[in-house]
Amino acid sequence: MSETAPFLKGCNGCGACTAVCPPALFINFSPRRLVESLLEPDEEVLNELLTRLVWACSLCFACSSVCPLGTDPARLVLYLRRLAYERGKAQQAVKACSQLLGGES
Ligand code: SF4
Ligand code: SF4
Repeated sequence: MSETAPFLKGCNGCGACTAVCPPALFINFSPRRLVESLLEPDEEVLNELLTRLVWACSLCFACSSVCPLGTDPARLVLYLRRLAYERGKAQQAVKACSQLLGGES
């Protein structure tokens, strides 16, 4: 995933990104976990991100403005959404997102 390098500067686990993330207040979503997942890629976790969790992000960029290391979780979300389309996961993801937000599937 060399494409993520400009936005993935590391993570010290401080949780500042998750503390300002609106969806993290309501659902099981965390930009910190997203970043950690990309630092140690695992296919199962990546699949969960592509088909479900990255679609919960509202792209407010609050997380990106507070990271002390310069990691940019919002840009990583955009990268992962593009990857989801490339891997044909988008339809599955939209359905899962609808369920995540309590709508019809
Ligand atoms: S703000 Fe940056 S360093 Fe802190 S948990 Fe989030 S990604 Fe990691
Ligand atoms: S850009 Fe996405 S991950 Fe970052 S704070 Fe906003 S909703 Fe959360």
